[in-house]
Amino acid sequence: MSTPSIIGHFIAGQNATPPEGRTSDVFNPATGAVSARVALATNDDLNRAVAAAKAAFPAWASTSPLRRARVMFKFKELMEQNVDRLAEIISNEHGKVFTDAKGEVQRGIEVVEFACGIPQLLKGEFTEQVASGIDSWSIRQPLGVCAGITPFNFPVMVPMWMFPMAIACGNTFILKPSERDPSASLVMAELLQQAGLPDGVFNVVQGDKAAVDAILDHPDVKGVSFVGSTPIAEYIYATGCAKGKRVQALGGAKNHMVVMPDADLKQTVDALMGAAYGSAGERCMAISVVVAVGDIADKLVDALAPRIRALKITQGMDLSAEMGPVVTQVHKNKIIGYIDQGVAAGADLVVDGRDFVLPGHEAGFFLGGSLFDNVTTDMTIYTEEIFGPVLCIVRVPDFNTAVELVNAHEYGNGTAIFTRDGNTAREYTYRIQVGMVGVNIPLPVPMAFHSFGGWKRSLFGDHHAHGPESVRFYTKQKAVTQRWPASIAAGAEFAMPTMK
Ligand code: NAD
Repeated sequence: MSTPSIIGHFIAGQNATPPEGRTSDVFNPATGAVSARVALATNDDLNRAVAAAKAAFPAWASTSPLRRARVMFKFKELMEQNVDRLAEIISNEHGKVFTDAKGEVQRGIEVVEFACGIPQLLKGEFTEQVASGIDSWSIRQPLGVCAGITPFNFPVMVPMWMFPMAIACGNTFILKPSERDPSASLVMAELLQQAGLPDGVFNVVQGDKAAVDAILDHPDVKGVSFVGSTPIAEYIYATGCAKGKRVQALGGAKNHMVVMPDADLKQTVDALMGAAYGSAGERCMAISVVVAVGDIADKLVDALAPRIRALKITQGMDLSAEMGPVVTQVHKNKIIGYIDQGVAAGADLVVDGRDFVLPGHEAGFFLGGSLFDNVTTDMTIYTEEIFGPVLCIVRVPDFNTAVELVNAHEYGNGTAIFTRDGNTAREYTYRIQVGMVGVNIPLPVPMAFHSFGGWKRSLFGDHHAHGPESVRFYTKQKAVTQRWPASIAAGAEFAMPTMK
């Protein structure tokens, strides 16, 4: 057997593979085999990356926005040429199906398209003659070295929520990808370099908690963007803020779809199949709870169950696949543990995906789709994020109970309502305490020119990701007030200046 290769860092324009040190296994989830090992950065590795990013910052920050945009235009072209290559890498390390992986890359490219407009986005505000002979304007300047810490479930798209905008705004960047699917980060580094990005502006440091803590401790890292689970998001936010950094930390989710009795059943079931079982439920916007209002629940269960049993589950590179494996055996065991708890708590397991085996891939991390009915809000399968192909149905008598239930959950990332009634939909979007809302849209993921973010314990910080919010996050505002006195100065003024 050949020794698995080591996936290393990318620092100051160079691939850097440490000859020794800690590593972590990277698996192909479809086979269960170790496909590579990823280096786990030390403090020294992180310090070298920060030094490179800090050295590159002054020149990059003073590069005109138009030139920065031209690098983004070129990067977009290169990304488009490499969609299939990146999607295959994603599928082989994450397990998601190839077409879904291509969609993820496309959603990342759309952030680059938005970043290409950076000269327009960075234009400040100007007021002529705020007082006699005085003009005032505000501008936005980059923070310095920024870091991104990203989850396993979107190894291309989530980093691309961050670095194209950070870099276009004039910052330099260190990406700490998930150690579970680290390879795509190095392809993006290579493409940025080919696009003409100066060395040191974009760096990749592979690693685990040690690398994250080194980022949080480093005084030269000025901004941190995090996406991952809620406990880690809260830790990153609290620690980073205590160290004086600007932090945005997007966390976990439990996304509810409210299905009204008047909903179109076929549309709703089609939407649920993709939203609950696409990417094996490993999406922060996956629908994991159906709130069935009135008498729709029985009809939903009857329509869903055969569709879930018929899901085409196979390895992600098989183009007929609807669902691939989950990311690791550890994660598979965790999901099975949740299903066991649901059964023990008394929920009805209508479809049980625990024992699914794909012939020829017995060691792969496959699970079938599972469906629970009669779930109650005290059950762990309701309160916690499972992050797997498990859908829970909670039955409620009316719309108001549905709204109260969704609002009472600790997470508030995404939600959807399926109804034919415009007023019900309007009422829902108005009253619901959730950051992203879909009306007859199961996965209301905002496009790149809007911003992405949840409420409650799904996001710590003030700014959502990508879109206009990211320009505000990756820049600080400066207000300038200017006078060019004609001749004689009025003398010193000791009272608070007011404009006359
Ligand atoms: P995770 O929290 O385990 O890991 C995220 C990142 O944090 C990784 O880079 C990891 O190396 C690092 N990390 C892990 N443990 C750490 C620790 N103890 N200290 C410091 N850093 C640590 O998340 P995951 O399992 O990779 O991703 C799935 C989670 O991400 C789900 O909860 C999902 O909802 C969430 N997610 C949220 C969004 C969103 O936009 N809100 C998007 C995608 C994923």
